[in-house]
Amino acid sequence: MQGFRHTKYIFITGGVISSLGKGIAASSIGALMESRGLRISLLKMDPYINVDPGTMSPFQHGEVFVTDDGAETDLDLGHYERFTTVSMGRHNNFTTGQVYDRVITKERAGEYLGRTVQVIPHVTDEIKRMIRRVGEEEGGAVDLVIVEVGGTVGDIESLPFLEAIRQLRLELGHQNSLSIHVTLVPYMRAADELKTKPTQHSVQKLREIGIQPEVILCRTDRPLPQSLKDKICLFCNVEPGAVIEMRDVESTIYEVPLALQRERLDDLIAHRLNIWSRSAELRDWQRIVELGRHPAGEVEVAIVGKYVDLKESYKSLNEALVHGGFANEVRVNLTFVDSATLESSACCAPLAQVDAILVPGGFGERGVEGKIQAIRFAREQAIPFFGICLGMQLLVIEHARHLLGLEGANSSEFDPHTPHPVVDLLPEQRAVTAKGATMRRGAYPCRLLPGSQAARLYGQEEIAERHRHRFEVNPEYVDQLEASGLVLSGRSPDGRLVELVERPDHPWFLGCQFHPEFKSRPTRPHPLFTGFIGAAARRRQGRSC
Ligand code: GLN
Repeated sequence: MQGFRHTKYIFITGGVISSLGKGIAASSIGALMESRGLRISLLKMDPYINVDPGTMSPFQHGEVFVTDDGAETDLDLGHYERFTTVSMGRHNNFTTGQVYDRVITKERAGEYLGRTVQVIPHVTDEIKRMIRRVGEEEGGAVDLVIVEVGGTVGDIESLPFLEAIRQLRLELGHQNSLSIHVTLVPYMRAADELKTKPTQHSVQKLREIGIQPEVILCRTDRPLPQSLKDKICLFCNVEPGAVIEMRDVESTIYEVPLALQRERLDDLIAHRLNIWSRSAELRDWQRIVELGRHPAGEVEVAIVGKYVDLKESYKSLNEALVHGGFANEVRVNLTFVDSATLESSACCAPLAQVDAILVPGGFGERGVEGKIQAIRFAREQAIPFFGICLGMQLLVIEHARHLLGLEGANSSEFDPHTPHPVVDLLPEQRAVTAKGATMRRGAYPCRLLPGSQAARLYGQEEIAERHRHRFEVNPEYVDQLEASGLVLSGRSPDGRLVELVERPDHPWFLGCQFHPEFKSRPTRPHPLFTGFIGAAARRRQGRSC
């Protein structure tokens, strides 16, 4: 029962071009409204037909963000979590594929018996249900749901989402829903002018479908003069004060909430939705932005990976490293190294210049040997090293080959006939043939070894971290690994699975089977990233004196 309270909804659409930063806008609005004391949630609707992004290449889609409940979701959910205190789950992201899957399953079960199943109303009804589901979570205690519509207005694909929003806005009532359109206001050098026409056209497109946006967020690389804002108001039929500048930020994306607050966007939203709340409290954000702008030092971290061409494929990782920098008051500069270029140990020499090396998660054989070379180099040269998921598996392989003398040791993912499958599928994964949503995913508990570096960093011995992988350290090799100096500092509570390994004979050398980057927030940097960047800063300092 909601009593007199209503969950309110903000719908965020994008116009003109993609990559406008709608996800950052939605997250920043979340941060602002949360800081005014509201309970918020967020939702991303994606217009593609894949049921989830889990089966797409990171080149196509960027990172797959994993939630506690094991959903494989759009990377915008990572922004949602980093900018707010909320925890996302499987209901906070859905795709056209999921909508149709539900509609077709119902049709086969005879739920629409006798009727023709159509986009309107059956598909749009399903979309509306999936939107409202988010507001009904937590016993209906959510005050505000921020809904981001993927794609660009004008695309065929997002039409059913927009139609569902049009209907839902009428059902919710004027004071319970708000439409915000994010557009581009480009600068034309030849004319020395900012141009409003693309915004006008994109708003026209939205109005054709029956949605009049009430707020227009303008992406721009320079300040918008008042006269230009007035012009957009006039041509796009929005109230004075409802054209908001969202200018490119200088140092960190965490400036955006502050920038939008300066434009009084949160007041506007509260006023328009008739929300009584305190004013925004943004001290934490100010502190972070200050740290980002004026770091006390800097460190250089090499990320040795396969998807080095696309920054988006390691989004959460990049952010978690930045957060580790905040914790140590240093700027973290990242160098992406394509592991395919490191096939011999001589090729690793340039890595001696960096302050720390990280091998992230990944799939498939390409570039694996280069990553193993980089790990060996980090171990032998005492360079701080962090291996995440695949990175930890390769750390174990490197140890088995070079310190245990197990020649040809490998993961059965890369060499099914290896004489020493130190990383292997467990029996429960062997039976799985389907590709979608079949890995070990989501939060699992882990017990840390008392006195280990991991336990010291976490400050506790029971943790839960998010996973996304099929292969595991082979339990049959665990005794040998331990006997040869690798400390297995984290295990599943039943002791069967290795979750964390470290070397006590090295300044900082740690691998984890889970993905700690998914749980790092700028205001609460993850302890492993805090420790890793701290070690990088110490190496930097040690080298400069
Ligand atoms: N390919 C490895 C596995 O499936 C590692 C996956 C990862 O790094 N996310 O176990």
